[in-house]
Amino acid sequence: MCMDHSVVCKCGRRDASFNFRNEVMPPETIEALYCPECSEGTLFDHKTMIVDNGWLIKYDMEVAGLYSSRLPASEKEKLSPELLFDEGYITWRGVYPGDHIDSAREREELATLAKVNPKKYFTEMKTWAIERMTRLKDDGWRKAHEG
Ligand SMILES: [Zn+2]
Repeated sequence: MCMDHSVVCKCGRRDASFNFRNEVMPPETIEALYCPECSEGTLFDHKTMIVDNGWLIKYDMEVAGLYSSRLPASEKEKLSPELLFDEGYITWRGVYPGDHIDSAREREELATLAKVNPKKYFTEMKTWAIERMTRLKDDGWRKAHEG
Protein backbone atom coordinates (compact mmCIF):
# COMPACT_ATOMS: atom_id res chain seq x y z
CA MET A 1 0.00 0.00 0.00
CA CYS A 2 1.18 3.51 -0.78
CA MET A 3 0.02 6.29 1.46
CA ASP A 4 -0.46 9.68 -0.16
CA HIS A 5 0.81 12.79 1.51
CA SER A 6 0.95 16.37 0.24
CA VAL A 7 3.74 18.79 1.16
CA VAL A 8 3.82 22.56 0.57
CA CYS A 9 7.16 24.03 -0.54
CA LYS A 10 9.18 26.56 1.45
CA CYS A 11 7.81 29.65 -0.34
CA GLY A 12 4.27 28.27 -0.10
CA ARG A 13 3.40 28.73 -3.76
CA ARG A 14 3.57 25.08 -4.85
CA ASP A 15 2.92 21.69 -3.37
CA ALA A 16 3.69 18.11 -4.26
CA SER A 17 2.13 14.77 -3.45
CA PHE A 18 4.37 12.04 -2.15
CA ASN A 19 4.18 8.28 -2.12
CA PHE A 20 5.67 6.15 0.63
CA ARG A 21 6.46 2.63 -0.52
CA ASN A 22 5.00 0.11 1.95
CA GLU A 23 4.85 2.95 4.48
CA VAL A 24 8.36 2.11 5.62
CA MET A 25 9.21 5.77 6.14
CA PRO A 26 6.89 8.23 7.90
CA PRO A 27 5.95 11.62 6.33
CA GLU A 28 8.14 13.33 8.97
CA THR A 29 11.16 12.12 7.00
CA ILE A 30 10.49 14.99 4.59
CA GLU A 31 12.12 17.94 6.32
CA ALA A 32 11.53 20.49 3.57
CA LEU A 33 10.43 20.84 -0.02
CA TYR A 34 11.66 23.52 -2.42
CA CYS A 35 9.94 24.27 -5.74
CA PRO A 36 12.02 25.53 -8.71
CA GLU A 37 11.44 29.13 -7.49
CA CYS A 38 12.41 28.71 -3.87
CA SER A 39 15.20 26.19 -4.50
CA GLU A 40 17.23 28.99 -6.06
CA GLY A 41 19.82 30.13 -3.61
CA THR A 42 19.35 27.04 -1.46
CA LEU A 43 22.63 25.29 -0.85
CA PHE A 44 22.52 21.72 -2.09
CA ASP A 45 23.58 19.17 0.49
CA HIS A 46 24.06 15.74 -1.05
CA LYS A 47 23.92 14.09 2.38
CA THR A 48 20.29 15.09 2.93
CA MET A 49 18.89 16.26 -0.40
CA ILE A 50 17.94 15.11 -3.85
CA VAL A 51 17.33 17.44 -6.77
CA ASP A 52 14.85 16.75 -9.54
CA ASN A 53 14.41 19.22 -12.37
CA GLY A 54 14.72 22.26 -10.10
CA TRP A 55 12.76 20.74 -7.23
CA LEU A 56 14.63 19.97 -4.03
CA ILE A 57 13.63 17.51 -1.35
CA LYS A 58 15.40 17.74 1.98
CA TYR A 59 15.12 14.58 4.04
CA ASP A 60 15.53 14.29 7.78
CA MET A 61 18.16 11.57 7.64
CA GLU A 62 18.01 11.13 11.40
CA VAL A 63 14.36 10.11 11.18
CA ALA A 64 15.18 7.94 8.14
CA GLY A 65 17.92 6.32 10.21
CA LEU A 66 15.48 5.48 12.98
CA TYR A 67 13.19 3.67 10.55
CA SER A 68 15.95 2.13 8.43
CA SER A 69 15.75 -1.15 10.39
CA ARG A 70 12.58 -1.77 8.38
CA LEU A 71 14.54 -1.74 5.12
CA PRO A 72 16.09 -4.85 3.53
CA ALA A 73 19.65 -5.30 4.84
CA SER A 74 21.26 -4.47 1.48
CA GLU A 75 19.39 -1.15 1.32
CA LYS A 76 19.91 -0.32 4.97
CA GLU A 77 23.64 -0.10 4.39
CA LYS A 78 23.18 2.27 1.47
CA LEU A 79 20.69 4.57 3.18
CA SER A 80 20.87 7.89 1.34
CA PRO A 81 18.55 10.53 -0.12
CA GLU A 82 18.96 8.81 -3.52
CA LEU A 83 17.87 5.47 -2.11
CA LEU A 84 14.83 7.00 -0.42
CA PHE A 85 13.74 8.65 -3.65
CA ASP A 86 14.81 6.17 -6.33
CA GLU A 87 13.58 3.08 -4.49
CA GLY A 88 10.20 4.72 -3.93
CA TYR A 89 10.28 5.02 -0.15
CA ILE A 90 9.69 8.76 -0.34
CA THR A 91 9.04 9.85 -3.87
CA TRP A 92 6.69 11.88 -6.08
CA ARG A 93 3.25 10.50 -6.62
CA GLY A 94 3.66 9.96 -10.34
CA VAL A 95 6.69 11.01 -12.34
CA TYR A 96 6.79 14.66 -11.24
CA PRO A 97 4.92 16.93 -8.78
CA GLY A 98 1.37 17.33 -10.06
CA ASP A 99 1.68 14.40 -12.46
CA HIS A 100 -1.32 12.54 -11.07
CA ILE A 101 -3.49 15.63 -11.67
CA ASP A 102 -2.24 16.22 -15.23
CA SER A 103 -2.40 12.59 -16.29
CA ALA A 104 -5.91 12.18 -14.85
CA ARG A 105 -7.03 15.17 -16.93
CA GLU A 106 -5.33 13.92 -20.10
CA ARG A 107 -6.79 10.46 -19.57
CA GLU A 108 -10.23 11.96 -19.12
CA GLU A 109 -9.93 13.71 -22.47
CA LEU A 110 -9.10 10.38 -24.06
CA ALA A 111 -11.96 8.65 -22.24
CA THR A 112 -14.54 10.53 -24.31
CA LEU A 113 -13.03 8.81 -27.34
CA ALA A 114 -13.49 5.41 -25.68
CA LYS A 115 -17.26 5.78 -25.95
CA VAL A 116 -17.18 6.74 -29.64
CA ASN A 117 -14.39 4.52 -30.92
CA PRO A 118 -13.02 1.97 -28.44
CA LYS A 119 -10.48 0.54 -30.89
CA LYS A 120 -9.03 3.93 -31.67
CA TYR A 121 -9.07 4.72 -27.98
CA PHE A 122 -6.70 1.86 -27.18
CA THR A 123 -4.18 2.82 -29.83
CA GLU A 124 -4.40 6.48 -28.80
CA MET A 125 -3.95 5.48 -25.18
CA LYS A 126 -0.82 3.52 -26.01
CA THR A 127 0.63 6.35 -28.07
CA TRP A 128 -0.22 8.80 -25.31
CA ALA A 129 1.61 6.74 -22.68
CA ILE A 130 4.73 6.37 -24.82
CA GLU A 131 4.82 10.01 -25.93
CA ARG A 132 4.24 11.15 -22.39
CA MET A 133 7.23 9.23 -21.05
CA THR A 134 9.44 10.50 -23.88
CA ARG A 135 8.34 14.06 -23.09
CA LEU A 136 9.05 13.64 -19.37
CA LYS A 137 12.42 12.09 -20.14
CA ASP A 138 13.30 15.06 -22.35
CA ASP A 139 12.21 17.38 -19.57
CA GLY A 140 14.76 15.66 -17.37
CA TRP A 141 12.55 14.16 -14.63
CA ARG A 142 14.39 11.65 -12.51
CA LYS A 143 11.67 9.02 -12.45
CA ALA A 144 11.26 9.11 -16.24
CA HIS A 145 14.79 7.73 -16.51
CA GLU A 146 14.15 4.68 -14.38
CA GLY A 147 14.24 1.21 -15.82
ZN1 LIG B 1 8.43 27.28 -3.51
